[in-house]
Amino acid sequence: MKTNVCVLGAGRMGSSIVRTLLNQSYPTSVWNRTVVKCKPLAALGAKVASSVEDGIRAADIVIINVLDYAASDALLKHESITSALVGKTIVQLTSGSPRLAREEAGWVEAHGAGYLDGAIMATPDFIGKPETTLLYSGSREVYERHKALLFALGGGTSYVGEVPGQASALDTALLTQMWGGLFGALQGMAVTEAEGVSLDTFRSHLSAFKPVVDGALFDVVERTKAGRFAGDDATLASLGAHHSAFQHLLEACEERGLNAAIPRAMAAIFQEALSVGSSDDDFASLSPVFRNRSRSQNSEPANA
Ligand code: NAP
Repeated sequence: MKTNVCVLGAGRMGSSIVRTLLNQSYPTSVWNRTVVKCKPLAALGAKVASSVEDGIRAADIVIINVLDYAASDALLKHESITSALVGKTIVQLTSGSPRLAREEAGWVEAHGAGYLDGAIMATPDFIGKPETTLLYSGSREVYERHKALLFALGGGTSYVGEVPGQASALDTALLTQMWGGLFGALQGMAVTEAEGVSLDTFRSHLSAFKPVVDGALFDVVERTKAGRFAGDDATLASLGAHHSAFQHLLEACEERGLNAAIPRAMAAIFQEALSVGSSDDDFASLSPVFRNRSRSQNSEPANA
């Protein structure tokens, strides 16, 4: 017999979660503020809960996927709801910060329910696919108990750690890397266009360059882990070589009147690392600057 699930939220992502659970034969009920969005899900076999409380009372596991934690709080934090939570499992798939996840876990557990905080590393069309990653942190016992259901939402599901905010932290870190790439693409397009190179040409060279960029990314992570900031025989390009090439970006922006807000911020970070290190250092010597630490402190873990 499969677990009874209630999904709170039938936006793009919540609806995809409901469809996936129904496809996998989980008895699923759904509640949404705008009830009309539940209609197509009801046609697929979902039960439409008449209220948040009824949905929670009828389920063993409650998946929340609304816009943000403020919306989620508005649904949960009422007396009638808190009594319904006892003995249930709450899986929070609404995006939030590590602090919000920690606070939510404390609140839910104090009301007698189990809690897992999740981060969805995919768009709605990827839910339920074997390659799709959802990250979870919080109670390992809850994760293990509901593994079958969690893997139904994505075959690449992964448990990050006991501290509830860790899935959200990893989500934020991976998105930061994505935004770095996207902002870089926007800056790159401005430069190529200003110099008469077509965006098609830019696009066609992105793929060929990607393995080089990926290699540099993994290298900077490995070197930071080991605290290997000084240049050595394995250094791919020194801090000085990077800084010298980087000047061409600043110059191109200045000459063509392009927005240089991001390159200027990057220039300040280069300067900070160079002021305490040397141009012979590895690019990874920029790493302590991001932690506001000296190099010798770099390997110390942050306070939980
Ligand atoms: P969406 O289509 O805009 O849906 C938002 C949902 O939140 C709707 O069900 C909406 O209800 C509900 N909602 C908003 N404010 C509310 C409130 N005050 N009270 C009750 N319900 C409220 O957004 P989405 O793309 O499904 O995203 C939902 C969550 O998944 C977000 O936290 C998002 O960051 C996360 N996520 C999304 C993606 C993605 O690719 N879409 C990927 C990863 C994570 P109504 O229908 O009544 O407005």
